[in-house]
Amino acid sequence: MKVLVSNVGSTSLKFKIYKMPEETVLCESKVERVGSEQAIYHYKNLQTGEKLFVPSCSVKDYSAGIQMFLRDCLSEKNGVLKDVSEVAAVGFKTVVAKGFYGVHELTEEVLQAMREYLLVAPAHNGPYLEAIQWFRELIPSAKMVGVFETAFHETVPQERQLYPIPYEWYETYGIKRMGYHGASHGYVAKTMEEMFGKEQRTISCHLGGSCSICAIVDGKSTDISFGFSPQSGVMHANRAGDMDPYIIPFLLDCGMPLEEIMSGLAKNGGLKGISGVSNDLREIEESRKKGNARAGLAVRAFVHSIVHYIGAYYAEMGGLDNLVFTGGIGENSVEVRKEVCDTLLHMGIEIDASQNECYNKANRIISMPGSKVRVLVIPANEEIGIARNTYQFINKCKD
Ligand code: ADP
Repeated sequence: MKVLVSNVGSTSLKFKIYKMPEETVLCESKVERVGSEQAIYHYKNLQTGEKLFVPSCSVKDYSAGIQMFLRDCLSEKNGVLKDVSEVAAVGFKTVVAKGFYGVHELTEEVLQAMREYLLVAPAHNGPYLEAIQWFRELIPSAKMVGVFETAFHETVPQERQLYPIPYEWYETYGIKRMGYHGASHGYVAKTMEEMFGKEQRTISCHLGGSCSICAIVDGKSTDISFGFSPQSGVMHANRAGDMDPYIIPFLLDCGMPLEEIMSGLAKNGGLKGISGVSNDLREIEESRKKGNARAGLAVRAFVHSIVHYIGAYYAEMGGLDNLVFTGGIGENSVEVRKEVCDTLLHMGIEIDASQNECYNKANRIISMPGSKVRVLVIPANEEIGIARNTYQFINKCKD
């Protein structure tokens, strides 16, 4: 059975086609800068090794990006499909929908529930709704399946999910800590089990454009830094993360328009907000080296917010076996890993400097052999979890 996995970003599209249950990736593709005349397009047939790369092209909208990818999937030279009807299901890394938390067929009812939470995840739900409609038109025979990012966190105990606010807000509006990055943390949980067995206490740090820390006990999420919306938790690249909600009415009273406050929190906060340099940690680290004090402050604040959650989860779990770094920053920033781990030396976390500095794309242990806690770098693979969940869901529907 062929399963197409679609990861829709606010300005990007990523696709993979899997042959299931073998988990063989047939092809993968990425469209960056969707909505522009200077989009970047990659496609690779993993069966033949054939690669296509277009450094600048017009991709007006999600439909144009999806059609570009499907054209190459069907092409005689580089394709992996003879007809789109070979795709049994399209699995989406959907974010959030009111009242739907696990894996669901994307019926009109579920799409409506995603629309109702547009305000909770505006950068994600809008693009997903658009991409799902296009896939429905372009591959009408396939089942559309949403693997919600909240799914992995359904195991978090209720007392950790609830905010200390009137209980009726939870009952009436569904306000609770939902947690995101489920595909990434779920993949880390499975990898730890494969490497070290089932009984493991793991803290998974997904650090990228969005950042989150997850506590995982014996393969299950027991706490997650993300709350009701992806705006919360640990500091992000350009989003604020946790902050005092009373800042909002205070700034409104100072005369700042709500739109400006919201874009400050959602676009001009986080590493970008404090550094004033960029939302890309590479540029902030460069600027810090040149002596920019605010760039240095931003990295220290970022490291602090990560350490803060690791400390909390260490206490909740009563110890720790594995500390995992994943995501664009987690996999690539030698400095962030070093600064986090150096702060945690007192917990018995000792990293090996040469392992930390060595770069390769594989799963790797970067702690000293005698370290009480193993420290690992696990390259993110969110798509495989979506493919597995989609495949299981399709099979369950058949029964
Ligand atoms: P997203 O959450 O948007 O999927 P990624 O997980 O791909 O993002 O992470 C992207 C971020 O990773 C970039 O914005 C950049 O800050 C960071 N990054 C990538 N490579 C490096 C590096 N070598 N050093 C430091 N940060 C890096």
